[in-house]
Amino acid sequence: MNDFICNKLKRLTPYEPGINDCAIHLDANESCMELTDEMKRKIGEKMLDLHFNRYPDPLATEVCELFGARYNVPARFITAGNGSDELISLLFGVFVEQGEKVLITEPDFSMYKIYCSTYECKPVILNKNDDFSFSPDEMIELANKEKVRLIIFSNPCNPTGQGISRDDVLKIVENSHCLVVVDEAYMDFWDQSVIDCAPAAKNLIVLRTCSKIGFAAGRLGFAIANSELTDYFRSAKSPYNVNSLTQAAASVFLGEKDYLPGAIDAIKRSRDRLYKALKKLQERYNDKMHVYETHTNFVLVRFNDSKDVCEKLKAFGISVRLISGCLRITAGTEAENRTLIGTLEKILEHN
Ligand SMILES: *Cc1c(COP(=O)(O)O)cnc(C)c1O
Repeated sequence: MNDFICNKLKRLTPYEPGINDCAIHLDANESCMELTDEMKRKIGEKMLDLHFNRYPDPLATEVCELFGARYNVPARFITAGNGSDELISLLFGVFVEQGEKVLITEPDFSMYKIYCSTYECKPVILNKNDDFSFSPDEMIELANKEKVRLIIFSNPCNPTGQGISRDDVLKIVENSHCLVVVDEAYMDFWDQSVIDCAPAAKNLIVLRTCSKIGFAAGRLGFAIANSELTDYFRSAKSPYNVNSLTQAAASVFLGEKDYLPGAIDAIKRSRDRLYKALKKLQERYNDKMHVYETHTNFVLVRFNDSKDVCEKLKAFGISVRLISGCLRITAGTEAENRTLIGTLEKILEHN
């Protein structure tokens, strides 16, 4: 059987989405806010008007216009994707040739490396410092020295929660002789976006997603870039990549004026509460844990034995993500955060 499987697939380390039967899921950076019944009813009404026998709008025009209106970018610079994951995959397929180099930082979103390997590109790794910071100058120098075709990094970063300033990102874009892809999956929770610069920049692609702000089920992401890059992107993507159900639901999700700002604020408040509670725990167990600062909807915590803490949390019905020797904990509802903190207290007391 294995003779039909090429070597690049045999080398692949698969992405493992956190599937488990825990009652409390704080492992996938989803929003802790479920859509309101009123929003769901409006989406239901849209479904009644949908032509299920017809293909979707290939350019998801209405959705791109609504996203563009919300983020102040004209729709002609926007490509919609089946999650930003599809767009990341497409980037490697469209803008990089087999054997060419791609600069990736470590740690960063694990899919970059996976697509790098399936598209047979060569990763050039910039290792972050022990505190998970990195120097933009070092990134520029490495990219230019190695003649990479593309740089990709998340800002703010999954899994570290940290980010670099807008000025630093623009410095990288201006001084690197390659495409720079800034994955702003978590930028709804921070204020250092460069999305406004993408339409006029020669070599910048910004990625956004609706997954972290309450629409993970819909699978909808966006790439923002100048019109030449956008044309290539659109002509290379699979034609009906965003299905009609998602487009209809997203027209409500993105279109309801007052819904999203409130939802994003609520997620940020939950994140702040979780961060403060973890910091307080750190004051008591300073020798056992370290909490990193965050600009996202999760908090990264290093425990002396993170794997052990992860397994014990799971035994109590709470799943978090073990990554880079730390636990990445998504901000949950108030009750979920409280249960998590209480359970961690119990675990640390006995460890
Ligand atoms: C979650 C995440 C994505 C994937 O988003 P989808 O739109 O759900 O595919 C992309 N990049 C980063 C850094 C993420 O954390």
